[in-house]
Amino acid sequence: MSTETLDLEERTGAGPDFSLTSEQELLRDEVRRFAEERILPGTGERDKAHRFPEELMGEIAELGLLGMLVEERWGGTGFDPVSYVLAVEELARICPSTAVTMSVTNSVCCWPIQSFGSDEVRARVLPTLASGGAIGGFGLTEPGSGSDAASLRTAARRDGDEWVLDGEKAWITNAGYAGYYVVIARTDPDGGHRGLSAFVVPGDAPGLRVGTPEDKLGLRASRTAPLYFDGCRIPAANLLGEEGQGFKIVLATLDHSRLGIAAQAVGIHQRALELAVAYAKDRVQFGVPIAKHQAIQFKIAEMATQLAASRVLTRYAASVSEDGRPDAGRLASEAKAMASEGANKACWESLQIHGGNGFCEEYEIARLYRDVRVTTIYEGTSEMQRLVVARHLLR
Ligand SMILES: Cc1cc2nc3c(=O)[nH]c(=O)nc-3n(C[C@H](O)[C@H](O)[C@H](O)COP(=O)(O)OP(=O)(O)OC[C@H]3O[C@@H](n4cnc5c(N)ncnc54)[C@H](O)[C@@H]3O)c2cc1C
Repeated sequence: MSTETLDLEERTGAGPDFSLTSEQELLRDEVRRFAEERILPGTGERDKAHRFPEELMGEIAELGLLGMLVEERWGGTGFDPVSYVLAVEELARICPSTAVTMSVTNSVCCWPIQSFGSDEVRARVLPTLASGGAIGGFGLTEPGSGSDAASLRTAARRDGDEWVLDGEKAWITNAGYAGYYVVIARTDPDGGHRGLSAFVVPGDAPGLRVGTPEDKLGLRASRTAPLYFDGCRIPAANLLGEEGQGFKIVLATLDHSRLGIAAQAVGIHQRALELAVAYAKDRVQFGVPIAKHQAIQFKIAEMATQLAASRVLTRYAASVSEDGRPDAGRLASEAKAMASEGANKACWESLQIHGGNGFCEEYEIARLYRDVRVTTIYEGTSEMQRLVVARHLLR
């Protein structure tokens, strides 16, 4: 049996450089300070009340965090992808709900509009999103179509100068708050995955209705609800790319946006570790702080090791995401699966270190334990990430 050498490092020349630029460090420190001072005080209350962080969105926009991947000529701040994952990580460390609100606006709404929209659509929509005049949403999932996105049924038909949408979307983050959604609909009933197209749908489009918000296990301060399209009319110009390119746009968008979920997981993991260390030094059992027990030390060492690996892979995947490398999507999937599963494990261990107190909402780890769960599910489950990786290696 012969084997082939798998080229897992497709970049030629110098190896990866993981150091941050001074601008990236500055941004990270600024977002960290903002998250600790402005977001943290209300995080527990918003979670309890399932209340969207509406009052924070203006300040987040002022920091330039809603149009991070949007070029300056379209009103954005034009940050690089590593800066973007740094910002998501810092927000998620303090409030994963706020982080997903911000990351969805950036990565699954602004990014495909900038990448596939006409100049007219970019000029009409992106400055509003990037300046915080509106946040963004993304409508792919339907009640009968999750991982198998190509089977979606929401239909779009052309009627003169308009597209008319009919159908239903499920689990839409920022639903009801978003000023614009990128929505994937079927324009050819018999076209399979080639029969899908992508559209920009304004939040106030006639015929669009937002359903009852989901009562979620975690991320309770983020809004998730269904969208109903009943003869929903949008301008013909709101088509992204060409008719039939919807699936291609979805794949490209998710390849990019998974970096944001990986970064969200890294931020949660970081906080779970910090909480575990603080608690272990403080809690005394058998006459010593539990941090003196080797079993606790091993848990903390394992959490820190996994965190370092997840963070490095996430930043590396971000750093190559715009190089046009064929393995950029695979790296994003690897980062998302690894970081989200590592963060779930870390929250589990951190709660274990907190003992009975960790099972109580008074302690922050209880909320993180709930919040982290979804990171292995949305924007593609861990199983789907592994399919992406395996397909890349076995093609
Ligand atoms: C809080 C939250 C926010 C969300 N926000 C959005 C949003 O803004 N926009 C949007 O469009 N969607 C959103 N989603 C939907 C999310 O992307 C889907 O839940 C996810 O893609 C999985 O789809 P599903 O839930 O239908 O699970 P299913 O696809 O039904 O999968 C169920 C299980 O089967 C496994 N499975 C399925 N197929 C295979 C296979 N071929 N091989 C192996 N295992 C398989 C899955 O991995 C999973 O474990 C959100 C979901 C949540 C929970």
